[in-house]
Amino acid sequence: DGLAPPQLQDLYAANLTKTLTPQLKPLVPNRELVFGKTFSDHMLTTEWTASHGWAAPEIKPYGPLQLEPCASVFHYAFECFEGMKAYKDRQGHIRLFRPDMNMERMNRSVERISLPTFNPEEYLECIKELLRVEKRWIPDEYGYSLYIRPTMIGTEPCLGVRASNTALLYTICCPVGPYYATGFKAISLYANVREVRAWPGGSGDSKIGANYGPSVKPAKEAEQLGCQQVLWLIGEEHTVMEVGAMNLFIYWLNDQGQPELLTPALDGTILPGVTRDSIIQLAREWGGIQVTERSITMKEVVQAAEDQRLLEVFGAGTACIVSPVKRISYLGHDIHIPLDPKDPESQAGPLARRINETLLGIQYGDIPHKWSVLV
Ligand code: PMP
Repeated sequence: DGLAPPQLQDLYAANLTKTLTPQLKPLVPNRELVFGKTFSDHMLTTEWTASHGWAAPEIKPYGPLQLEPCASVFHYAFECFEGMKAYKDRQGHIRLFRPDMNMERMNRSVERISLPTFNPEEYLECIKELLRVEKRWIPDEYGYSLYIRPTMIGTEPCLGVRASNTALLYTICCPVGPYYATGFKAISLYANVREVRAWPGGSGDSKIGANYGPSVKPAKEAEQLGCQQVLWLIGEEHTVMEVGAMNLFIYWLNDQGQPELLTPALDGTILPGVTRDSIIQLAREWGGIQVTERSITMKEVVQAAEDQRLLEVFGAGTACIVSPVKRISYLGHDIHIPLDPKDPESQAGPLARRINETLLGIQYGDIPHKWSVLV
């Protein structure tokens, strides 16, 4: 007795060690980039144990992990991740977009699956150092960026359904092109009335791998029906949730005839997107549009379309910023959404365009804004 409990180590950027690869890989030309296929030279890894806490973070050559087949990640989906991007501005400086939000969301995901939380500022410092090491991998062409994938997995070699006593936090990077290489391309949605992405009391508001695997089968079915994304619904009233792996926005004239931008409220079933939050804040600053977070049913969407009050529908996320929607296939009928009434050839409405241009401008440092963080 009299022994103090062991002090668990927190994660400190000051302890970061670097082992650089002796052999750099050749860069892939921008035009040949395919999302998620090319990875940079190095990765950032940090191990955690329940007895010690966080070990020193390491930057080391990108390469395979060694895990036992019984490791908890492989059995009960102890995995969560983030998706963010690094941009190169006109001066060649590296910039991140609201990375603090990704760190906070990652910690919330981590908590949901009983993995260890970490100090978000310290880990962000480690990611920034990784980006400095990988600077040559950040494309300097507008619209291109380096996608950053922080990931945490439970690694304990044990089949028990319980919290893992060991974990690995790692970050890998891949250069990516613009979502729409040749400008916007409006998409069609398949409103799925059968499968549900998330539910009250579930884990839909966490970025855990377990939410994504089951979404692929419905996505494939939507594709076979000529739609690029699933519109996720819930409940008997077919309340709208998200679009594929994007948040949903509806711009309409409400029943008072006022322009209103609607998005589902964060009720625990919706992923709190960084893009979503940014769009809400921008639209409120711009004024002239009422911005409302609430639940929205398909009945309301159908009625608005019939009354010609539906102005724009779009998905929003880091990958594309905004993804304009031209059609929703719902219960065998098509709901058509006007894109730009002044330009029949247009693939995006004026609000989606304005949001896209503003966020791109901020991300690449052309529009000075506190959301853009210099590395
Ligand atoms: N919803 C889901 C289900 C997602 O996976 C994502 C991508 N992270 C988003 C919305 C958009 O979030 P963000 O704007 O932070 O990329």
